Amino acid sequence: VLQASDVCKSFGGRQVLKDAALSVAEGETVVLIGPSGSGKTTFLRCLNWLETPDSGRIRLRGDLVGRAVDGREHGEAELARQRSRIGFVFQRFNLFAHLSALDNVAMGPRRVQGLSVGQARERAREELARVHMAAHVDKRPSQLSGGQQQRVAIARALAMRPELILFDEPTSALDPELVTEVVDVMRELAQAGMTMVVVTHEMRFARQTADRVVFMDGGLVIEQGPPAQIFDAPQTERTRRFLGHLH
Ligand code: ATP
Repeated sequence: VLQASDVCKSFGGRQVLKDAALSVAEGETVVLIGPSGSGKTTFLRCLNWLETPDSGRIRLRGDLVGRAVDGREHGEAELARQRSRIGFVFQRFNLFAHLSALDNVAMGPRRVQGLSVGQARERAREELARVHMAAHVDKRPSQLSGGQQQRVAIARALAMRPELILFDEPTSALDPELVTEVVDVMRELAQAGMTMVVVTHEMRFARQTADRVVFMDGGLVIEQGPPAQIFDAPQTERTRRFLGHLH
């Protein structure tokens, strides 16, 4: 579904990504792990052009993301169209405070995909039910817990019927007792065949749910493989050292 190659990005002269590469197959759950500052979030944001890479190529089912073949950056309309094919779940939910859960989820299908109000709300109800939020559709974000807000944000991504969803540390802003409800929903999505790339420090999620774990350090992918390989038989010293710190 997605292929990223040679992705480089610097901030103020400091190179954060150095030829990072990743390819994601249909239905696959890929979990990105690595030390703080290793470039995971930046890489994820580059994948749907929330961050503009300095160089490199990202392809979504063969289509170049962000730039035309001649290297010029796409206009806003084309970027929005491409981004609607790639869902994004933020660490801090980013819901509209003045809208109900239902309207937060219905907004994308209505505004970007041109559904009628009725159709968009129907779709929003379906997706909110999928994340077990059917009982809370009329509540505003302030009336919901962090875990519930994050599930609304996941429903908002799903409502666009994206080809894959990127999750940027989706549980790290949550109180510990709320992490499980979000992780459970993500596991259900993975099992239902959704294509997902997840940046997380939740090693249990990585071990139990990832098809592939990708270890990043210093702005590049150091090692990747099935969770059993990465966690139980890492091939590089850097991976071993990082995982050693966690115990
Ligand atoms: P963490 O697990 O702590 O979130 P990470 O692996 O996701 O780390 P990034 O968030 O990608 O790492 O950040 C990599 C480096 O890039 C950090 O040193 C960060 O300070 C820097 N950085 C990220 N975004 C910006 C920005 N917009 N401007 C300047 N520097 C940035």
